[in-house]
Amino acid sequence: MKCPFCNHEESKVTDSRDALEINAIRRRRECCQCMRRFTTFETVDLSLQVKKRDGTYEDFLQEKLIHGMDAACRHTLISHDQVRALAYKIKSDLMARGVREIGSRELGEIVMQHLKETDVVAYIRFACVYKRFKDIRELLEAIRSIAPQQELNEDVCR
Ligand SMILES: [Zn+2]
Repeated sequence: MKCPFCNHEESKVTDSRDALEINAIRRRRECCQCMRRFTTFETVDLSLQVKKRDGTYEDFLQEKLIHGMDAACRHTLISHDQVRALAYKIKSDLMARGVREIGSRELGEIVMQHLKETDVVAYIRFACVYKRFKDIRELLEAIRSIAPQQELNEDVCR
């Protein structure tokens, strides 16, 4: 496990215990070079299947989700790290609920819900690709659906 501070390859485990709430083993490590301490989590890789629009299945790929969200979030207030964290949260929420299979449509809706709460521009961009708006009317409907929420946010900022 590489040290996150100096990238040194070797570290030693100083403590190891179950982290039951996330079904993982938590290890405290100490870098053998810079002596800094960090924590790692070892988890079982339970796969999640995505049912596509054509009825076939594919493995849930976090990187694919991140890639799609990154494209929507470019030049918005959502950083790549936030996208990664969000993708991780979406997967771990599903796993925690015991979901082992999800429709691509439902997955898209979950992503959109998160983006809507975080950055409306990213939300609209993602929705454009995901929902495949047929015309400007559908796009405007999507924008109108978030407009009341937007006004509310502006009120709070004042
Ligand atoms: Zn180090």
